[in-house]
Amino acid sequence: MKQFITSLAFAALSATAAGAVHAAAPDVRMYRLDCGHMTLGDKSVLSDAGLYRGQSYDIVMTCYLIKHGKDWLLWDAGLPKKYLPGPVVEGTFTTALDRTIADQLRDIGLRPEDITYVAVSHAHFDHAGQINDFPNATLIIQRAELDAMADTEKAASHYIDAALFSSHVAGKDLKRVRVIDGDVDLFGDGTLKTIHTPGHTPGSMALLLKLNTAGYYALSGDQWHITESHERQQVPVWNYDHQQTISSGKKLDNVIAQTRATLVIEHEPVDNRKLPAFPRFLD
Ligand SMILES: [Zn+2]
Repeated sequence: MKQFITSLAFAALSATAAGAVHAAAPDVRMYRLDCGHMTLGDKSVLSDAGLYRGQSYDIVMTCYLIKHGKDWLLWDAGLPKKYLPGPVVEGTFTTALDRTIADQLRDIGLRPEDITYVAVSHAHFDHAGQINDFPNATLIIQRAELDAMADTEKAASHYIDAALFSSHVAGKDLKRVRVIDGDVDLFGDGTLKTIHTPGHTPGSMALLLKLNTAGYYALSGDQWHITESHERQQVPVWNYDHQQTISSGKKLDNVIAQTRATLVIEHEPVDNRKLPAFPRFLD
């Protein structure tokens, strides 16, 4: 007992010495959900420098269910249900959604009502398609993204889908929206931090997770679409700002280097295979 008290006192002392006293780390888990898939019939959309002509590429849409203590946070909300079951052909894009998020949640005994937060990396249809399916959830979004959605011209030219956010934003029901600015420690305990990465859209962001056993993971939103976007510094034709995209990439790379985080590019199949298949999880 004496030894226990001594080690507790020592732990308290080291926390004070480090200048950061945090409550005990909560139970944090990350699950990977299947939120659709798409064949880019024309991969050259991923390069404003004109690479990839005549090639195609298969990407995935992925959502991440994160348990933080008693809260459940969904990071990105996948394709809209109009792609269920698919495939739907739109120009050079062939898109399909096999199962909704709500349907997958049932596999671990969760109801849509149990989700407390839905955070979107940005307001494109393939990341926000099912945000209205969680009646008790507070939406977490960057202010710059909300502002871009309110600007009809910007929204139209960058395909930011304000209509998808109807129950949260259009109805001015902002009490269900947590608007954030920049890099934010969401729960104040260092476990979930947003990294603002403007460029793909004005309010794009990534999420840095600190898991007790698995360590740091960076979910990069659409900062990069596939591994080659990262390695070859390729910017898609549809991005809002080329130079901001490059700067945000450097910023996120620095965070990854400092934390030795595992990078998960959300649309890249190879990266998502680093994560266990649902319902298994990382913690
Ligand atoms: Zn996307």
